[in-house]
Amino acid sequence: MGKKNKNKKAIKRINNNRILFEKNKIYSLSGFNKSIYGERIKMYNGIYLREWNPRRSKLGAALLKGFDEIPFSEHENVLYLGASTGTTVSHVSDICFKGSIYAVELSYDSFIKLYSLASYRNNIYPLLEDANIPEKYSFFIEKPDIIYQDIAQRNQVQIFNENADYFKCARKAILILKAKAISSNKNEKSILNTALKGIKGFNIKNIIDLKPYDIGNYFIYMER
Ligand code: SAM
Repeated sequence: MGKKNKNKKAIKRINNNRILFEKNKIYSLSGFNKSIYGERIKMYNGIYLREWNPRRSKLGAALLKGFDEIPFSEHENVLYLGASTGTTVSHVSDICFKGSIYAVELSYDSFIKLYSLASYRNNIYPLLEDANIPEKYSFFIEKPDIIYQDIAQRNQVQIFNENADYFKCARKAILILKAKAISSNKNEKSILNTALKGIKGFNIKNIIDLKPYDIGNYFIYMER
């Protein structure tokens, strides 16, 4: 086998070629040659590939831990709760390049960076809001297909349930659960089990411990 064919074989593609795996690295295919959080960008067959750092993005960590395919397609709308400065949002924006990402963030400092990301990426709608109060931002959101939540607060399950109840059109959900944010003095597995039992309206399909990329966070994939 020629060297060129061998290299082609080493690359795995998912999500309609929007995500590439090469050795132990992941990339999202991007229309932008602009680094968001210090990630490297390279050219491949005339397109930009943004390296996806699994230590900075829990969604990236889940991919490297065997989550087969991200349940977002290019046209889908994502309600993203706990967007921070937009690290993971930027990769979701690469994947759902014809959809919309409604990125809710409470901290003003993080929001400033998120806002600057959204200023040149037309599919990101930043919202400086509290995810505890979905009625305050529901007006701006066009039928989300999926809810993605990464909020390390004590009441993270309650926040998720309120949004799941409010946006019933979302048939899929990803919840990043930080057990120690719920309670710092109980056993992590027992906190996780209690938290999972508290989730309403969704059936759990997959639970991934994000170690060693991220300690103490669990990636939960769910469908209605
Ligand atoms: N998802 C981000 C990423 O991968 O790039 C990281 C999110 S960080 C772990 C959690 C974020 O949730 C913080 O930026 C925090 O300000 C935000 N947050 C906390 N409570 C919130 C709330 N009630 N509503 C909205 N955002 C909240």
